[in-house]
Amino acid sequence: MKVKKFGGTSVGSAERIRNVGKLIADCKKDIVVLSAMSGTTNSLLEISGAVENNDRKRAFELADALQSKYAATIDDLYTSEEYKAKAKEVIDGIFDELRALTKNNFSVGLEKEIVARGEMMSTNLMNLHLHELGINSVLIPALDIVRIDMHGEPDEAFIRTEAKKALEAHTEADLYITQGFICRNEKGETDNLQRGGSDYTASLLGALLGADEIEIWTDIDGMHNNDPRFVEGTTPVRNLHFEEAAELAYFGAKILHPTCILPARQHNVPVRLLNTMDPAAEGTLIENKLERNAIKAVAAKDNITAIKIKSGRMLLAYGFLKKVFEIFEKYETSIDMITTSEVGVSLTIDNEKNLPRIEAELSQLGTVTIDRDMVIICVVGDLEWTNRGFEAAALEALRNVPVRMISYGGSNYNISFLVRKEDKTKALRLLSYHLFN
Ligand code: ASP
Ligand code: MG
Repeated sequence: MKVKKFGGTSVGSAERIRNVGKLIADCKKDIVVLSAMSGTTNSLLEISGAVENNDRKRAFELADALQSKYAATIDDLYTSEEYKAKAKEVIDGIFDELRALTKNNFSVGLEKEIVARGEMMSTNLMNLHLHELGINSVLIPALDIVRIDMHGEPDEAFIRTEAKKALEAHTEADLYITQGFICRNEKGETDNLQRGGSDYTASLLGALLGADEIEIWTDIDGMHNNDPRFVEGTTPVRNLHFEEAAELAYFGAKILHPTCILPARQHNVPVRLLNTMDPAAEGTLIENKLERNAIKAVAAKDNITAIKIKSGRMLLAYGFLKKVFEIFEKYETSIDMITTSEVGVSLTIDNEKNLPRIEAELSQLGTVTIDRDMVIICVVGDLEWTNRGFEAAALEALRNVPVRMISYGGSNYNISFLVRKEDKTKALRLLSYHLFN
């Protein structure tokens, strides 16, 4: 059994839905996880925003506009009047619920109820489309099978049991469809796994049900070895270790939601990234296998701020780093990169919200210098320390780029450089040229 997830653009129009229909038509007993049609989640958030501003009129106008889009999709998607009518009934029903919701006072819970309608609509459209094609698909509501606990973490035992139960109740099904992203919380209220969370749903279901593979279908041919927006001639990476993929997802490669692969990794279920626009392309396979002696990819993470704390008192002192870290903990700001010397420490953050307060407190420990508009360039591959030459090759590539920080040895899979924003493209291109040519 496989779990196959299709993102918003993959189901973004009637044509795209038909296209995905073809790709899954002969999936025997697989689970298909869908995002909302692209643009819908944002529209729903706008509607919820109008409710928050007490602008019911605007909320209704936005709902009307979205409903007309769905009406057009229905008209295009189904061939028979019978299925057009069926789909219209379901979608209109969801819009009736939506309008009823907008009459409530705003709350975070209400926003979650509103935003959940996106995935409900895309999955219903797909399910009916498959039925019209004569495929016996069964729609399993994610709200019945996916739950998070009081800490917002997936309740794995619940998901495993309930998902199994739901599948077993429909042994006659050719395939199963469910919503990505949406779930319930410990109180039974509608909740979600955060923006982009459909990948996470797929990873959780695949991991907990022991799937043979989790397929994440997007509109690019797998993970590329560098950022195609800045570097020409990038190529898809065929194989990645889970750890390599995690570093890439975290440090910029937008294709995968960073937390998404965690469950798959823990339960050792391979993840394959595939392209709906080019289904025959090989894509990228992520699994627990490391290709030795290879540098796989380069990624960049923007909007980084570097902070240096220099202190004579750090020399031979213990407890200095603890004091530094406590300040970041207090202001709930996570640290990405860190380097130390005997007289100081440099670290980076990607969230400046509490920077003035952090800076004020750090100043009590030493002299603070701040560099804004920096970029982390992350080189990923087999960078185990006993290998020779790989760190050197990356450094050599950046010979003519001013580098503010270097971090190596934190994992076996990565070396990171901090450079100025204006040097980013140059650094990415030089790394591609020297490492992949
Ligand atoms: N529809 C949700 C979003 O736009 C979840 C997802 O697409 O993964 O964030
Ligand atoms: Mg080495």
